[in-house]
Amino acid sequence: RLDSMSEPTVFTRILNGEIPGEIVAQTERVFAITDIAPQAPLHVLVIPKTEQYMNVAELAAGDPSLLAEVIEVANGVAAEKADGEFRLIFNTGAGAGQTVFHVHAHVLAGDLEEKSLV
Ligand code: 5GP
Repeated sequence: RLDSMSEPTVFTRILNGEIPGEIVAQTERVFAITDIAPQAPLHVLVIPKTEQYMNVAELAAGDPSLLAEVIEVANGVAAEKADGEFRLIFNTGAGAGQTVFHVHAHVLAGDLEEKSLV
């Protein structure tokens, strides 16, 4: 992030073990945690370890291979923990419901409503 003096994000704190969180998968550059407020039988967040990208548009522009790695980890988690079929959501901007400005993919799987967005 440009503002290097600001506090670490909640996801960085989980990665660093400063607050509890269940890490269900990780690679060198990406980690995955169970969402604290699950919206589906499987609800995992896949997160770059760097917090320099606030949202998926910045990530796509700045490091497309890291975005691809996020998607690969999402697929792996869904393959391991669900039926391999999943919904991937990136809330982008407060008006779209984003609350943590450290890019993360919501992986939702298992018994999803056909038309619901979550
Ligand atoms: P957003 O609304 O930014 O797209 O998603 C943020 C997500 O982070 C929400 O689904 C919320 O439940 C989850 N979340 C917020 N704080 C924590 C936390 O401390 N631990 C975990 N595991 N998830 C969190």
